[in-house]
Amino acid sequence: MTGTISKVVIAGGGTAGWMTAAALSRFLVPSGVTVELVESEQIGTVGVGEATIPGIIDFNRMLGIDEADFIAATKGTFKLGIEFVDWDRVGNRYLHPFGEYGFDLEGVPFHHYWLRDRLRGSDHPLSAYSMCCQAAMSGKFMRPVSDPQSPVAQMRHAYHFDAGLYARYLRNYAEQRGVTRVEGRIKAVDQSTETGSLTALELENGSRIEGDIFVDCTGFRALLIGETLGVDYDDWRRYLPCDRAIAVPCEKIGAAAPYTRATAREAGWQWRIPLQHRTGNGYVYSSSFLNDDEAESALLANLDAPTTGPTNRLRFTPGRRRSVWKKNCVAIGLSAGFLEPLESTSIHLIQEGVSKLLALFPRGGINQREVTRYNSIIGNAYDYVRDFLILHYNATTRDDTPFWDYVRTMAVPDSLTETVELFAENGRFFAHKSDLFSITSWVAVMIGQGILPRGYDPVADSIPDQDLVATLTNMREIYAQAASKMPPHQAFIDHLAKSA
Ligand code: FAD
Repeated sequence: MTGTISKVVIAGGGTAGWMTAAALSRFLVPSGVTVELVESEQIGTVGVGEATIPGIIDFNRMLGIDEADFIAATKGTFKLGIEFVDWDRVGNRYLHPFGEYGFDLEGVPFHHYWLRDRLRGSDHPLSAYSMCCQAAMSGKFMRPVSDPQSPVAQMRHAYHFDAGLYARYLRNYAEQRGVTRVEGRIKAVDQSTETGSLTALELENGSRIEGDIFVDCTGFRALLIGETLGVDYDDWRRYLPCDRAIAVPCEKIGAAAPYTRATAREAGWQWRIPLQHRTGNGYVYSSSFLNDDEAESALLANLDAPTTGPTNRLRFTPGRRRSVWKKNCVAIGLSAGFLEPLESTSIHLIQEGVSKLLALFPRGGINQREVTRYNSIIGNAYDYVRDFLILHYNATTRDDTPFWDYVRTMAVPDSLTETVELFAENGRFFAHKSDLFSITSWVAVMIGQGILPRGYDPVADSIPDQDLVATLTNMREIYAQAASKMPPHQAFIDHLAKSA
């Protein structure tokens, strides 16, 4: 146990720094904790990170942020899932939706009934039983309703937004609530000679910022947790070989789609993220299989519209820090780890880092047991996302390029093999309440990638054949009708932006 914590210093003001500052300003500043954030305009931020998952809604709600105001300020759009193109094989596409599949039937997850129907010869896709898929595929959107009888109650959404505008929005929020921003470049980090704990940040302009606890949000540089405290980084390139990205914005043409698109390419994949004012694009690829110039040419040749800005080349090592909390330093954001943006999980992992820091905030002094718990919760969250991402690559039939042949045949973690084998037999999958991805996500991706179970849970046989057929027909009609009555996504955004 060390002394009481009354001053937090956040190093770095990208998405991670300002998300942390906003949450601390809401929950700790009112109780007397001082928060100071140092960032350098000269260094800038990574400047990407435009797609999210539904947990962001809880984060915004926790801060009391109004959705219409937020969408207007960040040029945001709504996201109902991710469309994967050419992943299992060239020519195949599927949507990983938020929300749920089907209505509750006799105690086993819906997909068992779908599997039973399929094994009897039906060919209706699983997407016919998802409100989010039906809305997304017809370009529609509305917020979920509270009536549990309505299929629209199953809608769940996240956002696409401009990463720079999001950080600015949170900066205003945090500064209004008492966080002090300091402009300057950190040139050294001071440590106690006795304990090795951090004591202050020294800036190039000669100022010195002291604190009791330091949050490292310095991005890939990891100035505090990596360079100063020497915490090692686990490199996961053997499972996730993509280690480069090229991003480029292009003009927005037509209505904004309410989903992200991820299209498999020769040595990785290309994202397409629709915003109000532009479309974000990028190619995430493996430098072992493609060079930067080839990747850039492929990206530019595969855009829907003219570019509106320069290309931005990024390098990263997929993986995570062995410990994200050491002594009085907590790493949040890219300094803690990075997994490619295939399932838009980085901002969520920041949110997880911030909310667990609040839950374990050491007001009375740092307690090693709490530090250990924090490290295991955050470490497990990264490991869990890693397995889910590997699934997208490894469950492919593609062998048409050396990259796809590698990911198809590579060794994967035992935890993932067990999950896939269990599902492949009788469609069984068990999610825990605290898991980042629900059963819908895993089932969508496993089935989308062509893992079709040989059997199903026998409980799904409790309904007679003709009743099952009638129930499923009715469900498909309910979802399709509900989608047809929703407003177009673009009209919904236009209306919201006007009312903000
Ligand atoms: P940064 O944005 O790099 O911020 C670092 C901060 O530290 C800056 O303010 C910088 O000025 C400051 N700093 C650094 N060194 C110093 C110094 N010496 N002195 C003072 N200040 C310093 N996430 C998603 O959730 N969805 C996505 O769709 C998504 N897409 C991505 C695509 C790519 C190609 C990449 C690489 C990432 C993507 N991410 C995505 C991740 C997301 O961009 C990051 O998680 C998020 O932006 C947080 O970054 P950060 O704040 O940790 O780091």
